[in-house]
Amino acid sequence: MKPSDATSPALSLSDIRRTYGSVVAVDNVSLDMARGEFLTLLGPSGSGKTSTLRLIGGFEKLDGGSIKIMGKRVDHLPPYQRDTATIFQSGALFPHKTVAENVAYGLRMRSVPKAEADERIRRVLDIVRLTGFEARHPAQLSGGQKQRVALARSLVVRPAILLFDEPLSALDLSLRLQLRAEIKRLHDELKFSAIYVTHDQGEAMAMSSRVAVMNRGEIEQIDRPEVIFQQPANEFVYTFIGESCCMPVRASGGQLLDKSDAPVSLKLARPLTDGLWRLYVRPSRFRLGGEAAGLANQLSAIVHFVEFLGDTTRYHLRDGGLELFADHSGHADLKPGDKVAVGWRSEDMQAWA
Ligand code: ADP
Ligand code: MG
Repeated sequence: MKPSDATSPALSLSDIRRTYGSVVAVDNVSLDMARGEFLTLLGPSGSGKTSTLRLIGGFEKLDGGSIKIMGKRVDHLPPYQRDTATIFQSGALFPHKTVAENVAYGLRMRSVPKAEADERIRRVLDIVRLTGFEARHPAQLSGGQKQRVALARSLVVRPAILLFDEPLSALDLSLRLQLRAEIKRLHDELKFSAIYVTHDQGEAMAMSSRVAVMNRGEIEQIDRPEVIFQQPANEFVYTFIGESCCMPVRASGGQLLDKSDAPVSLKLARPLTDGLWRLYVRPSRFRLGGEAAGLANQLSAIVHFVEFLGDTTRYHLRDGGLELFADHSGHADLKPGDKVAVGWRSEDMQAWA
């Protein structure tokens, strides 16, 4: 190994590109991932996440650009020579092999001696909490247990990079949350390098060292989760990573107008230049009634309808042609037809023209 190899990134993508006919699935994507990073590709369906992952794993051919793993060019190598292991949405276990045999498979392929293999299998099954399940077949496991076997099977070969393609999306909510926390714990403990694909922003935020938000085959923003959330680079990132209300307005000579050109009662701290704007606020950031007093941005709205959400109540509000929804955790006790003051801080609003 050359000395530089010890410090090179776990993964370098340089202008990688993949097209299917006229569809540009991956459009000149570049990124470096440090060793031990958990980097998530987050984006809507069709944004190019799986294609990017398959290019890294060697299951698809590049139309342009290059890929390095641990400083070594791998573009020309088949999947089994790339030092990666992939965990798919459905574990893709061998149905006729036991748990232990499934986990052993990659070690057998790599000719790891039996005594060492047995020890590594024992340890990895302990890590994923499947000790005692060695002799079971996949059909005798729950969905969550199958995904833990898939994880063990990938971890046991100690690849340079683990590739995850929506591994939790087939599981029900409580299991998804539990496994998400387990993968996070495993990463904290083992410090493996991972590329994780998901369309679930909660998953991305909770698990990742960094998140790359993808749209139409391109990376819109790549940063730590809190930066993505607090300083979204653009309207797409802002609207994709959390719920928001959009209030379209037209500014004209200091006056704000709704979609039918009727004046709205909205008072903004900063005047907008003339033209069409989309104002966004996260529903949890609105303050209602007395709590709205003194806030920089103010609106007087009518309650349209109310949704009880458990911990919070969501008020759907209208002011002429403007519609918004505000989540309130206290006892606002509003009913349809009530008039209510709505306020928010300027830093809680995004405005895009
Ligand atoms: P994601 O994983 O983000 O949902 P994909 O990478 O699967 O997105 O797909 C990106 C784009 O490439 C989509 O428009 C999809 O239809 C297209 N695509 C992906 N795989 C193929 C394929 N094998 N043949 C043709 N088009 C494909
Ligand atoms: Mg996909």
